Amino acid sequence: MSAATERAFPAMSVREVREGLAAKQFSAREVAEASLARIRALDGATHAYLETTEQLALEQAAALDAAVAAGTLDACGPLAGVPVAFKDNMNLTGTHTTCSSTMLANYVSPYTATCVARTLAAGAIPLGKLNMDEFAFGSSTETSAFGPSKNPWDLTRVPGGSSGGSAAAVGAGLATITLGSDTGGSIRQPGSFCGTVAVKPTYGVVSRYGVVAFGSSLDQVGPFTRSVEDAAYALNAIAGRDALDCTSQALAIDFTANLAQGVEGMRIGIVPAFMDAQGLTAEVKAKVEEAAEHLRALGAEIVEVDLPNAQAAMSAYYVLGPCEAFSNLARFDSVRYGYRDPGHADLNGQYEASRAKGFGPEARRRIMLGSYLLSAGVYETYYYPAQQVRTLITQDYERAYEQVDCILAPVSPRTAFTFGEVSDPTDMYLSDMFTISINIAGNGGMSLPVGLGADTGLPVGVQLVSPQFKDENMLRVAAALETVYGPAPVAPGFAPDAAAPLGAPTTLPDAADAVPGVDLPGVLVDGKAGA
Ligand code: GLN
Repeated sequence: MSAATERAFPAMSVREVREGLAAKQFSAREVAEASLARIRALDGATHAYLETTEQLALEQAAALDAAVAAGTLDACGPLAGVPVAFKDNMNLTGTHTTCSSTMLANYVSPYTATCVARTLAAGAIPLGKLNMDEFAFGSSTETSAFGPSKNPWDLTRVPGGSSGGSAAAVGAGLATITLGSDTGGSIRQPGSFCGTVAVKPTYGVVSRYGVVAFGSSLDQVGPFTRSVEDAAYALNAIAGRDALDCTSQALAIDFTANLAQGVEGMRIGIVPAFMDAQGLTAEVKAKVEEAAEHLRALGAEIVEVDLPNAQAAMSAYYVLGPCEAFSNLARFDSVRYGYRDPGHADLNGQYEASRAKGFGPEARRRIMLGSYLLSAGVYETYYYPAQQVRTLITQDYERAYEQVDCILAPVSPRTAFTFGEVSDPTDMYLSDMFTISINIAGNGGMSLPVGLGADTGLPVGVQLVSPQFKDENMLRVAAALETVYGPAPVAPGFAPDAAAPLGAPTTLPDAADAVPGVDLPGVLVDGKAGA
């Protein structure tokens, strides 16, 4: 293997890895070792990773290399040999699953999330677990108890959040695919900030089993990649019915099937109220308009659609989200598991101190808000109307989709901000003004990188939104736009051939060393994950 090839892991595409393995240009072991070496050499600057999973990676690679030798690589799955990593709210047996919280700093997963198991069963090589905002509350990773991740395009800026580590890892070429979760924008906004493809599928496409819950009616898992095709491969691996999550749906979709079809004859919606929204920066607006022009030139019809109730999405979300979070986070009680503050004679004192110290300020804010909003008398004033608003917004989208196949919108009103720049919580909440209504309605939404903003020179994503369970529509439009903009590059300072790399070495803990005596799940390449 040439030095250049070695440095390119894991900055390769799914197709490149698979073809290289099949042609014996390199081995799965080389992919695993070079990927882990690259993380150790560079991630000190980005802090995308919290923990590596070297032992698992090498076991998986050994199984793949045995399959190559036996001529059975094709049976190993569509992600054979592809370096992947997981947001740290996804359980993987024998690894820490901390949700970037002191509350779960010592928690070791006794089981594996379905989305993770399916990724590994598809043959992917697991590199590690990724940093995030605490319990996925935030838009910048600044609420992580273990320190923020940095944007690989500019280390003085946030990568977005809450799946900031997942976005930074792909943007820096430190994984080919990562998984994140999106409750109000947490896949799409960091994808936009770090210049990656980032897909939040329709609610129910991917099983939530084993993913630590934030807002159970809103959460959805999806992939970060550097190309639309890679995202489709990832979705093929993780999507579909899982008997362990009753909201997951049986699907018979090959997400790669219509990527080359183009947009000729498609109708694509633009929402005038989004384009005129206060706070939308000129450079982001210009990029959405530019993407619309390209789509028109490629043969699509651009149609204006109205979502008359979408402006209420933010208010509804900050009622529904905290209520669900309050309920979900009740389980971290310091008794069954979670941080336990020592030295309390009475149980109430232990609860109070453990939850006060185990949760950071944003988590405590959401819990207090949720407990208030669900209290008697208040419930009727806020929670109930928020559910009614939810129905209205869902109906708005349904009406819009009678006219169009897909909607084009901004992802985030602006490009990546600097650390500390957005300090007021309600200003931070505005990061998701264009993404939240999609979780409320349960549609599919994704961010596609469309180059750099004219004013800041930082990555900009445009959002494509699909009707429920028609996620293939947005992928098709994204693939057409990608023919204009090209696949997402690795951030220049992290490019395999960068003259002056921005990365810095790190000594990350590895799951196998950090958790001695715990049985790792072993090789999953042949595993039958989920049901
Ligand atoms: N930024 C939003 C919030 O803090 C969305 C987070 C998410 O999607 N997990 O709630």
